[in-house]
Amino acid sequence: MTWKTMTLTGWGRTSRAEVAACRPERAPAAVRMMGTRHDNGILAYGKGRSYGDAPLNGGGHTLLTERLNRMVSFDPSDGTLVCEAGVTFDDLLDAFLARGFLPPTSPGTAFATIGGAVANDIHGKNHDRAGSFGDHVLWLDLILPSGELVRVSPEERPELFAATIGGIGLTGVILNVCFRLRKVASASVVVRERRMPDLDAFMAGLAEARETAGYSVGWIDGMARGGELGRGILETAETADAGAGAVPAGAKKARAVPVDLPGFVLNPLSINLFNQAYYRRVPAEGRTRTLPVRQFFYPLDAIHHWNRIYGKRGFYQFQSVIPDAGAAQGMRRMLEAISDARAGSFLAVLKTLGGEGRGHLSFPMRGYTLALDFPRRDGVEDLLARLAAISLDQGGRVYLAKDAVLDAASFNRMYPKLGEFRAVLDSIDPERRMQSDMARRLNIRGHEGDRA
Ligand SMILES: Cc1cc2nc3c(=O)[nH]c(=O)nc-3n(C[C@H](O)[C@H](O)[C@H](O)COP(=O)(O)OP(=O)(O)OC[C@H]3O[C@@H](n4cnc5c(N)ncnc54)[C@H](O)[C@@H]3O)c2cc1C
Repeated sequence: MTWKTMTLTGWGRTSRAEVAACRPERAPAAVRMMGTRHDNGILAYGKGRSYGDAPLNGGGHTLLTERLNRMVSFDPSDGTLVCEAGVTFDDLLDAFLARGFLPPTSPGTAFATIGGAVANDIHGKNHDRAGSFGDHVLWLDLILPSGELVRVSPEERPELFAATIGGIGLTGVILNVCFRLRKVASASVVVRERRMPDLDAFMAGLAEARETAGYSVGWIDGMARGGELGRGILETAETADAGAGAVPAGAKKARAVPVDLPGFVLNPLSINLFNQAYYRRVPAEGRTRTLPVRQFFYPLDAIHHWNRIYGKRGFYQFQSVIPDAGAAQGMRRMLEAISDARAGSFLAVLKTLGGEGRGHLSFPMRGYTLALDFPRRDGVEDLLARLAAISLDQGGRVYLAKDAVLDAASFNRMYPKLGEFRAVLDSIDPERRMQSDMARRLNIRGHEGDRA
């Protein structure tokens, strides 16, 4: 197997990297490629659904995991699955939904890999109930930077386990993951949608939903101002019972955005019109519908390459979490900053998170998390810095899976277990073979010889 030069991007297409990449088909080849010498380091790349530079290693080597995508073993008595790290959530649904199993938690796209889910310790619409992906991992097989293959779990090498969950690929390449799927009675979800007229109503609605609903998510109109600031649609959902309530899983139909749209298609006026239509789509009295699982969990996947609608300059996604105590104030300050900047954001996503993850760099904490897309226009980086500063000020943190612009000092303050993370990396990777553009930008490894 050889290394081929190629250009990779994050999903937002603001971060790009020219890398020497290999695409192993089998585990032994992946182990062999990790064991060879790499100038400028090496990093795993799943499906590139992180928005910024987390999966990029410009000028260095990259191991593409997409063909390491076999199911290794499955125990239907308790849902325990072992699969290779390149398996996607889409693959899981194809293989197990008809047999009555769902992933324990899932991001808003089915095209992320299980390796990526571990490395970002992803969360879904059920974080208060189920925690993040790392909470479900029983063990994983990891190719260390040295090329050695080791099994890691909360019992075996717990510090390395904690560094790998949410460790954005910096502990090595994850080969296999063992976790438990969740038994469900049908392939449908019963979804209740309600209009929330303003931010206070939304926060109260989510506070109630996190105690009562299996799944909950809010869609906020990022363009609303004044008394309507923070208005949107709150969705709560439960998996449907078998039989009468269930709907067919539905064919996997997707449209594609064939080309980059010119930047002027998305302007504050067109975004405003879209957001208003989205709000009014749900009747004032609310509605309840039964939907196929895919339609509820992955609405954006219905349009392949939807990231092209932002044109060639790409877009940023910002996501941060703010602890419960400061959340109402923090969300208001962020939404006001966005509205004042007229930065033009499509629907923002507001969710609750239930608590800390198991990883040193896990993103979740008990609080409220807001995620929004911004077309890359002049000045938008200033707005992103402002949003990060508000989050930090309220005791929160920015999500690395979405980030492309955070500065190293803010990152250091947001992730208090960075010192423990660095200590693990120093012990398993003293030569700093694992590298990424994000790690360099955020000085994640620390300066050589430093201790955090
Ligand atoms: C539309 C959309 C919706 C999303 N919704 C959510 C959401 O609701 N919740 C959420 O938490 N996230 C969400 N995300 C983010 C996404 O789930 C994460 O970025 C995820 O990590 C992407 O997986 P990937 O396979 O594409 O990984 P990549 O983006 O390719 O890589 C992500 C990181 O994982 C590392 N990595 C990948 N594979 C391996 C491996 N085998 N071994 C070691 N390291 C590895 C990479 O080095 C990199 O640091 C969303 C993304 C999109 C595009």
